[in-house]
Amino acid sequence: MARHTKSVCKLCRNEGKKLFLKGNRCNSAKCGYEKRPYHSGVHGQNRKKLSEYAVQLREKNKLRNSYLITEKQFARYFKMAEAQQQGVTGTILLQLLEARFDNVVFRSGLVHSKPQARQLIRHRHLMVNGRIVDIPSYRIKPGDKVSVKEKSANLVKVLIEEAPIQAPHWITVDKDKLIFTFDALPTREDLDPNIKEQLIIEYYSR
Ligand code: SF4
Repeated sequence: MARHTKSVCKLCRNEGKKLFLKGNRCNSAKCGYEKRPYHSGVHGQNRKKLSEYAVQLREKNKLRNSYLITEKQFARYFKMAEAQQQGVTGTILLQLLEARFDNVVFRSGLVHSKPQARQLIRHRHLMVNGRIVDIPSYRIKPGDKVSVKEKSANLVKVLIEEAPIQAPHWITVDKDKLIFTFDALPTREDLDPNIKEQLIIEYYSR
């Protein structure tokens, strides 16, 4: 199973944007991007203006890294979005990424980072519609209910207390019963307006 092993703070610095991959640390003065808001590496502060291609590449990598997925996985999501007969490719791409199991767990506020969401999933603490699912990329569908295995309830309760995240309106969270429902796919307006998905489409159209 592919996973990121490099410093995630470097991803933020190289993308020029906080990707919030380290939980509480991201909102503290220890945040790597806050301390050094420029590209990593010795020449990080002297980088020149980017070419059109580099801008598209950067936008694609920014989105890919914010979901912590590999190049291959991201390209597969793009192909799936492009193959859809209805809807806008860029929006479908974002919806596919949003519906990943690890992302939904993170968004729900059960944990305070995506790596932590992945760990919960891989360690088989979570169920989808009553069945254990240990695949972070599993696609959650509207109406699906995610719950916590009985034996894992105490662990997850501790994590929830530490997690400062409020679930968005498309996820209903019952913190007492430890059940959350993915009510609907988010619309484009619900998602980060700073993402320039058109640049990503241009990148793959070259
Ligand atoms: Fe990015 Fe969080 Fe590291 Fe800051 S602390 S650079 S937001 S991963």
